[in-house]
Amino acid sequence: MRTLIKNANLIATLDADGRRMEGGSLLVEDGRIHSVLKAGDTAKVDKVVDAKGKMVTPGLVNTHHHFYQTLTRNLPGGQDEKLFAWLKFHYPIWRGLDEEMVALSTRTALAELLLSGCTFSSDHHYVFPQDAAPDLIDRQIEVARELGIRFQPTRGSMSLGESAGGLPPDDLCQSEAVILDDSRRLLNRYHDDSEEALIRVDLAPCSPFSVTNKAMVETAALAREAGCRLHTHLAETLDEESFCLRETGKRPYELMKSLAWTGADVWFAHAVHLNDEEIAAMADSGTGMSHCPGSNMRLGSGAARIRELLDAGAPVSLAVDGSASNDTNHLLAEARLMLLLARTRSKKHWLSAEEVWRVACSGGAKVLGRSNLGTLEAGALADLVLWDLDGLYLAGAQSDPLAALLFSAPAPRAHAVMVGGNWLVQDGKIPGFDEAAQAKNHNQAAAKLLDRHRKEFA
Ligand SMILES: [Zn+2]
Repeated sequence: MRTLIKNANLIATLDADGRRMEGGSLLVEDGRIHSVLKAGDTAKVDKVVDAKGKMVTPGLVNTHHHFYQTLTRNLPGGQDEKLFAWLKFHYPIWRGLDEEMVALSTRTALAELLLSGCTFSSDHHYVFPQDAAPDLIDRQIEVARELGIRFQPTRGSMSLGESAGGLPPDDLCQSEAVILDDSRRLLNRYHDDSEEALIRVDLAPCSPFSVTNKAMVETAALAREAGCRLHTHLAETLDEESFCLRETGKRPYELMKSLAWTGADVWFAHAVHLNDEEIAAMADSGTGMSHCPGSNMRLGSGAARIRELLDAGAPVSLAVDGSASNDTNHLLAEARLMLLLARTRSKKHWLSAEEVWRVACSGGAKVLGRSNLGTLEAGALADLVLWDLDGLYLAGAQSDPLAALLFSAPAPRAHAVMVGGNWLVQDGKIPGFDEAAQAKNHNQAAAKLLDRHRKEFA
């Protein structure tokens, strides 16, 4: 199957040379980009898509999320709290999660991500209530397959409950043995290390204040045996830094290093509070990070030192984080926040629009271990987005369409989204996906979750 996407106002390849082609075409063959053609070049194909009035970019990559939190967006009790108090407010509510809720929230989150130009997402599911079925991540994978998006879920875990000095309630924690068994089961069942993989599984104990050192060390050993990646929250807040210093005598990054939790197969969510030596160590070891500007502002966590991380050569990616601290799944809007948050710092720390695009595309692909994604060039997997440039919000901003999508209001929706050569979004919609019914079912599930919590305390 050969598809020609032709006559685009602009093709922004975001490749090593930063090629931008006006009026060019893109030839896609069997799920990969065959070639980028100049205006006027032709090719024999099965299907032609006219991209006049559109810009073509690589798909955006989201490297950190908690889909289930779309059920608890914007709760009044959590609107004005910092991370630890915010978590303590939400944990008892999340205790009521069940399989159906996880499936529904995954569908909402992935649909919103797709519509915002995301072609590849990770998720970090770490809440396994004792009453719920154990195979919650299986449900997420089913939904991702149904939608066709590239998906790299992580098997999250919590093992350090309140009674042992951790933050979460004991009954939301699991033993190391249960965590390891289920991690192994998911890897055996779903992990696909082929180049074209739509599904890969990674392992992700939750954070230094909710996981035992034993779980960290055993999980790392399993990941390295299985050839998957490792993910956790790190250096998100100063409260976390104090916790680590008090409990272990080490700063968060030092603690991770002592547990063999640094390296090119590891990425940390947030990494806000890093000192100069830690930034250099991230770069030297190839340890990656997910920048979550919206969540960091929402929870008052701080501004990550992205300029310094990029200059040092550390792998940096973009993520929306969970929807109870963002409270959206709009990845293009997140890219805009990244551009703007950097500019609350002194001018030497600013980022250009193209740098933000690169972090959001190839930066994410690298952090998730995929070298064949994130650019539009021959041989890359055909994960790409067509953006409509005719909207009112872009009127007068056409001199640099790539920057316009970040400087102007974020496009409410991508015009079209392709993953591995398949169109998943067309004309701003997911074909066959009933958005009204999904929102209704999701709202009912969210109400049921709050109701369970109320009854528990009645
Ligand atoms: Zn998170």
